[in-house]
Amino acid sequence: MQQFDAIVIGTGVAGKKTAEQLHQAGKSVAIIDKLPFGGTCSQRGC
Ligand SMILES: Cc1cc2nc3c(=O)[nH]c(=O)nc-3n(C[C@H](O)[C@H](O)[C@H](O)COP(=O)(O)OP(=O)(O)OC[C@H]3O[C@@H](n4cnc5c(N)ncnc54)[C@H](O)[C@@H]3O)c2cc1C
Repeated sequence: MQQFDAIVIGTGVAGKKTAEQLHQAGKSVAIIDKLPFGGTCSQRGC
């Protein structure tokens, strides 16, 4: 079983930024979404 320091739920701008900052801090991160990757803005909104 794979293990991570953190799991971020949501691949929108907030989730991506959070995962990026955790990665930069040296943490292993999984980021998941129930919908296609990218969040509301890139996939459905803007
Ligand atoms: C029609 C529309 C037009 C817009 N136009 C603009 C614009 O022109 N300019 C602008 O700056 N902003 C615009 N916005 C706003 C912009 O989309 C949001 O500010 C931005 O997407 C918020 O980012 P977020 O990461 O907080 O949330 P989101 O981008 O919504 O990401 C959240 C993600 O979490 C996932 N998620 C939620 N719950 C779960 C769960 N339980 N399990 C797994 N995944 C989950 C969702 O599927 C989603 O992908 C628009 C929004 C809409 C709806």
